[in-house]
Amino acid sequence: MDLPVVIAGAGIGGLSAALALGARGHDVLVVERAGELAEVGAGLQLSPNACRVLKELGVLDRLMPHAVAPRAIRIASGRTGREIASIELGDRIATRHGAPYLVVHRADLQRTLFDHALDQGRIEIRLGSEIIEISDTPDGIVQCHVQTGDILAQISAKALIGADGVWSSIRNRVPGHREADYTGLTAYRATLPAERVDDDLLTRTGLWLGPNAHLVHYPICAGREFNLVALVPERWTEEGWSATADRTALLDHFGNWAAGVKTLLEKPDTWLKWALCGVDANGPWSDGKIALLGDAAHAMLPFAAQGAAMAIEDAAVLAHHFPPTATNVRTVLKAYEADRRKRVKKVQETAVENGRIYHLSGPMAVGRNTVMKLMPPDRLSARQDWIYGWTPPL
Ligand SMILES: Cc1cc2nc3c(=O)[nH]c(=O)nc-3n(C[C@H](O)[C@H](O)[C@H](O)COP(=O)(O)OP(=O)(O)OC[C@H]3O[C@@H](n4cnc5c(N)ncnc54)[C@H](O)[C@@H]3O)c2cc1C
Repeated sequence: MDLPVVIAGAGIGGLSAALALGARGHDVLVVERAGELAEVGAGLQLSPNACRVLKELGVLDRLMPHAVAPRAIRIASGRTGREIASIELGDRIATRHGAPYLVVHRADLQRTLFDHALDQGRIEIRLGSEIIEISDTPDGIVQCHVQTGDILAQISAKALIGADGVWSSIRNRVPGHREADYTGLTAYRATLPAERVDDDLLTRTGLWLGPNAHLVHYPICAGREFNLVALVPERWTEEGWSATADRTALLDHFGNWAAGVKTLLEKPDTWLKWALCGVDANGPWSDGKIALLGDAAHAMLPFAAQGAAMAIEDAAVLAHHFPPTATNVRTVLKAYEADRRKRVKKVQETAVENGRIYHLSGPMAVGRNTVMKLMPPDRLSARQDWIYGWTPPL
C-alpha cells in the first residue's frame, strides 16, 4: 500500500505543498493545529514568481476574484510626503514575467488553497490536529502520532514535511536546526474599509520610507479593504499573529512624519502587532524522511515581500524532486534542500538589506532618495527580475 506524505501545517506553504505533491501523484495528509481557518495574518503581496506556481497548481484563476493587481508601487518619503520613485506593475509586469503581481488577504489565499486541495481526490486535511510524537519503525517508516481532540491516531508516512511556520515544532526533529531569532522589529497591522481612504490609494501599493521605520499599504479583498503595515524597531517578543497593539505607541513612532501619512495612520481604531522573527536559511532543513518548508525552514523579514512566495516556490521544488516512485526519500529531501538554499538565502539577505536602506536617516537617506529618483524606472524595476523571473522546475 502506498503511504501518504504527511504535512504539518495548513498555512500557505503546507497547502501549496499538498497541491504540488498531490498533482505529482502522492496521497497527502495535512495536519493543522487550528480548529478552523481564521482571519489570521494580514495582506500579502504575491509577486509573479509565486503567482506562476499558483497558476500551475490551478489556483490562480480561483484566487483572482479576491485579489487586486496594483498598477504601481509608489515609493515616497515619510518625512516630506513627496514621491521618490514609482515602479510600474499591472499589465507591464504580468507581460514581462508571464504572471501577475497581486495583493491579497492572507486568509483569502489560504482559503482558496484549502478549497482547491479538498477538491483534489488525493488530499485529506485534518483541522484541530497536531503531531505530538514522531517515531521510526525498524524498516524506516515515519510514524506520526496525531492527536485530534481525544483521539490519538498513529499514521505511517513515507515522508513528513514540517510546514508549521516560524515557531515550528517539527524543526526540533532536525538535528542542528536553526532556532527562530527575534529581529528587534515589530510589524503593526490594521485594515480599513476601502471607502475610508482616497480612491487613489486603492490602485497601487504605497511604500513610505523614514528614519528607523517604514510603512506599506495596499488594497486587499478585491479592493473592499485597505491594508496597512507599519514596521518599527521595538523590544517586544511575544509569539503569535494577533496581539492587540497600543495605537498611541504606534502613532508616537511616526510623530515626525508628513501630515498626510499621520492622518492615514490615525484612521484605524485598532492595530494588531507581531514580533518579526527570522530563521537562518543556512539550515539544515532535513533529516532522514523529515524536511522543513516555508517559514519553518527560513522565515525572513517581510521587506522583500517574499516569505510566502518562497514557501510556494519550495512546494513546487519539493514536488519536482519527489516522484511517487522514489525509493530513497532521504536523497529526495536532501536534493530539495540543496536546490532551494542558495536562492532562499539570497532573498533573505535582500530583505535585510532592504530594511537597512528603507530605514536610513540624515544624509544617507538624502543620498538614497537621490539615487532612486535618478534611476530610470526600467532599471529600478529590473533589479527585481532575479526574484520575479523565477520559474518552477518542470
Ligand atoms: C508583516 C508581514 C508581512 C508579510 N508580507 C508578505 C508579503 O507581502 N509577501 C510574502 O510573500 N510574504 C509576506 N510575509 C511572510 C508570509 O506571511 C510568511 O512567510 C508565510 O505565511 C509563511 O507560510 P508558512 O506556510 O511557512 O507558515 P504559516 O503561514 O505561518 O503557516 C503555518 C501553519 O502551521 C500551523 N501550525 C503551527 N504549529 C503547528 C503544529 N504543531 N501542528 C500543526 N499545525 C501547526 C499554523 O496554525 C499555520 O496554519 C509577511 C509576513 C509578515 C509578518
